[in-house]
Amino acid sequence: MSDIVSTLINDNLVALQPYESARRLFAGGQDWLNANESPYANEYSVDSSRFNRYPSCQPAEVVNAYAQYAGVSNNELIVTRGADEGIELLIRTFCTPGQDNILICPPTYGMYAISAQTCNVGVKHAPLNADFSLDVASICATGEVNLVFICAPNNPTGTTVDADDLDRIVRHFSDTALVVVDEAYIEFDKQNSWADKLADYPNLVILRTLSKAFALAGLRCGFTLANAPVIAALMKVIAPYPLAEPVAQIAAQALNAEGKAKIELQVDFINRQKQWLKNTIAALPGFDITGDTRANFVLFRYAQSPALMAYLVEHGMLIRDQSKQLNLQHCLRVTVGNEAQNQRLIALIKAFVQTTGASA
Ligand SMILES: *Cc1c(COP(=O)(O)O)cnc(C)c1O
Repeated sequence: MSDIVSTLINDNLVALQPYESARRLFAGGQDWLNANESPYANEYSVDSSRFNRYPSCQPAEVVNAYAQYAGVSNNELIVTRGADEGIELLIRTFCTPGQDNILICPPTYGMYAISAQTCNVGVKHAPLNADFSLDVASICATGEVNLVFICAPNNPTGTTVDADDLDRIVRHFSDTALVVVDEAYIEFDKQNSWADKLADYPNLVILRTLSKAFALAGLRCGFTLANAPVIAALMKVIAPYPLAEPVAQIAAQALNAEGKAKIELQVDFINRQKQWLKNTIAALPGFDITGDTRANFVLFRYAQSPALMAYLVEHGMLIRDQSKQLNLQHCLRVTVGNEAQNQRLIALIKAFVQTTGASA
């Protein structure tokens, strides 16, 4: 059996390691501050009367509601099974396997490279500068690429991008590549969205999701925004039934006036808790806030990060080790949770610092 697998498996998959999602790394724990999920679980209802039918490929209610929310036309948007499916669709639609390349700017979200590798598409790197700004010169000096992925706010650095830098990059690639701006966390940094700039840039693409601010990571619903010809190309490749009927119903509820108002309040609360977490961590001896806090997480550097991480796991407090990412040695990322979780995290960190301080 393993012989036939090793004979048949695609060459590009032999060395590939699956994405180490927070859920794959730790199954247990009581406080999950490791996947940038919302601490809120909002209530929804479903109507089963249509479950005997195949669902709509692009449910009109969801398309209309999100287009209105994002300020784009209905033909400038495609709904997908999470933003992750949008990433894969872009690669499958615009990159020829074994031939084309994407460009990423590490440290950044891991799925761009993994999706490319599963499709046998090459990955070029233009690392962020030391202050996590875009290295425009290096990005523009990269040879031929078909897609450029830029994450803003960036996971895991929490930094946004300079508008002039992004403008130069999108213009540089205007005839050669699509520039994909991943706005998974944009609700926490609203004023920096590029969704209203599609008319200015034919090669601009924007990724969105209901998984973060909208508190629906379990739903698997995301959006790709782009000019109509780009969306029409993606529509050729997307599966006929990417969204289950209950998903479409719940997404439509999340995007109605009441749903959006609720999310706005929750985002305000998370932003205030984030400020508290950031200030409290910054005041701890030996802890340095790293990057910025424009999303729903705080990244910090601490020399004893492996021991602290182990201590937190032992106490059921799961955060995310980012120390293997480029230029993020000794960095841990914590998602802003509810008030009780944030306080428990700080209490545990303080207890750890005291014990190690006492034994040192
Ligand atoms: C969480 C995340 C996604 C994935 O979103 P889904 O809609 O859950 O697939 C995409 N991009 C970034 C930067 C993320 O952090």
